[in-house]
Amino acid sequence: MSQSPFSTLKLNPDLLTNLSTLGYETMTPIQAQSLPHILAGIDVIAQGKTGSGKTAAFGLGLLENLNVKRFRVQTLVLCPTRELADQVATEIRRLARGIHNIKVLTLCGGVPFGPQVGSLEHGAHIIVGTPGRVDEHLRKGTLHLDELNTFVLDEADRMLEMGFQEAVEEIADLMPKQRQTLLFSATFPEEIKAIAQRIMLKPVMVKVEFKHDELSIKQHFYKVDDNEQRVTALRLLLLMHRPESTVIFCNTKKEAQEVANELHDFGFSVLALHGDLDQKDRDQTLVRFSNKSVSILVATDVAARGLDIDSLDAVINYHIARDPEIHLHRIGRTGRAGSKGIACSLISDKESHKVITLGNYLDRAIEGEPLPSINFLDKPVFEPEMATLQIEGGKKQKVRPGDILGALTGDNGIAGNQVGKINVFDNWAYVAVKREVTQVALKKLGQGQLKGRSFRIRLIRD
Ligand code: AMP
Repeated sequence: MSQSPFSTLKLNPDLLTNLSTLGYETMTPIQAQSLPHILAGIDVIAQGKTGSGKTAAFGLGLLENLNVKRFRVQTLVLCPTRELADQVATEIRRLARGIHNIKVLTLCGGVPFGPQVGSLEHGAHIIVGTPGRVDEHLRKGTLHLDELNTFVLDEADRMLEMGFQEAVEEIADLMPKQRQTLLFSATFPEEIKAIAQRIMLKPVMVKVEFKHDELSIKQHFYKVDDNEQRVTALRLLLLMHRPESTVIFCNTKKEAQEVANELHDFGFSVLALHGDLDQKDRDQTLVRFSNKSVSILVATDVAARGLDIDSLDAVINYHIARDPEIHLHRIGRTGRAGSKGIACSLISDKESHKVITLGNYLDRAIEGEPLPSINFLDKPVFEPEMATLQIEGGKKQKVRPGDILGALTGDNGIAGNQVGKINVFDNWAYVAVKREVTQVALKKLGQGQLKGRSFRIRLIRD
């Protein structure tokens, strides 16, 4: 972390005061490098990945540009996924707490269109959304950007990878030329440079060096012959390390699903996360993994972006990533916040070209280690600590986390520390409980009433 305090910036005093109540004292490197340009009104391209503090960098910039009294859309933030859009909107609301009456609205695909039209009719200052849905609102005339002054592209590389280039360009065509455009991306392929040239004006480029601890994460490379041996390698590594939370990265959706199926057949607690899941399954998968009732997630890079997990115990690359920056991005998710994580990659001779490129990038020679002893295959598989219960009632039925906690821990209930994360969605909710008290929890929730009603409760089985 750089040592410059936020107070060195020319920021609205209300924003500054709020930052210190949030505990943000000094700027992260990306903030220190980009904010002076952003606050000067210049277009900025920045290398920003999740965890770098990028949201606050553009969030403070767009809040500075905002005239709250003018109740029109003045900012648009585009994100590749709904999860990221939700996280960004939450962070902007936190940053905006010092200023009254700022209205932030999310417009994402995968949810009904109609209610969004209703919300738009009520007005908003800031829109955070996914390109397809925002474009649809613009085409149907339910959203207007003629008073926009700040346009942000978050995780631009992912948006382009997901095929949103056309939508992004169409959207940019429908906003004033006179505006500030900020683009954040973890990697900088040619397409990013091309789109920046089309939609930005003389942007400055801010590149933050990789953090030292990221490069020093202990990485292991294991030599494998073919895909069959890859699955055996996964089993060996999982059975040896027995990590609580592991993400296995695959390069394609099909592969992610196949690997998840195979591990499942071997008895592991595992789910696949990729773009072919519908929104409900995707939400449920993310909830179950992050509340520790599923130990392993097999994911594609795009799908894993929305993952809201501070620190994974292990990251395993089933195949090495196409690009060294993506590789670092993957392994950077392990062992954050001082805890030690494991980063393993399976490599075969066919990938030697990518391995050499990665070695050059990391400035080290990469040599395959032998796999753990085959005897680990005799060890039993491990179970996650928690189990997830689904409640057929959510925000629309006014079910709140406190109600669920209360119903579980009341008379003859389970202890508060046996309850894990609670996630409430529109029409349903999930609660994690310690595996050993699942039956008591089911019974207690089933008998009890939430908001004076009894909702159907079920255990989500592995
Ligand atoms: P992001 O990269 O935007 O996803 O942010 C990562 C996390 O760091 C978020 O939880 C922020 O709330 C937090 N954060 C951002 N900037 C700062 C800062 N200057 N000091 C402390 N925490 C921060």
